[in-house]
Amino acid sequence: MAVHLYAATTSQGKLRDFRTAAETHSVAIDPLPGLDTIPAPEEDGVTFAENATIKAVYYSRLAPGKLVLADDSGLEVDALDGAPGVRSARFAADSGLIDSPDANDNTDVWNNMVLLQRLATIPEAQRTARYHCVLVAARDGSVLHTADGSVEGVILNAPRGTGGFGYDPLFYLPELGCTMAELDLKTKLSLSHRGRAILALLPELGL
Ligand code: IMP
Repeated sequence: MAVHLYAATTSQGKLRDFRTAAETHSVAIDPLPGLDTIPAPEEDGVTFAENATIKAVYYSRLAPGKLVLADDSGLEVDALDGAPGVRSARFAADSGLIDSPDANDNTDVWNNMVLLQRLATIPEAQRTARYHCVLVAARDGSVLHTADGSVEGVILNAPRGTGGFGYDPLFYLPELGCTMAELDLKTKLSLSHRGRAILALLPELGL
């Protein structure tokens, strides 16, 4: 029987990524029951690790005895001194373009637009970036394990592809000659920050 883990995320993109990556380990990952109705904790950490820990500790306290996974992830662009970083989901909101991020609306489109504007004068050779993900597993408010993963790429000057989510249509993988949004999900997970983090974490949990 598959082991069950709960993911503290309402992002369909993240959930799909987690489930696909965990399939090979016979691990079933479901959203934490009732997550939509639980007020989110303030993600006021300055690193991915701090925010992932805040979420894992907070949500695992609300699900007694359950193993809860939380991730914090984002895009670090070298020419922007690592921005948007922990503010990746809120890049357009921070710049005043939209009121607040919402996984179900057009936030990704606005975030990508802000990214293109900020890099408008930056030549291709200097548009290097990486996705970074920190994943924390917790139970009853205690952190059990932490893992991280990253993947290097280049930010294009126009979107390509319809898969993935977030900044994927702009995130180009030079070795593969395509963007993250042009990859099928299994291939994306085999090399993505989130795929690498979860595959590093599962053995730590004995799975
Ligand atoms: P979080 O929910 O605070 O971790 O925000 C993560 C944000 O980083 C997302 O909303 C996306 O904008 C971006 N991001 C993280 N991982 C990915 C990915 O795999 N593809 C595209 N964008 C990502």
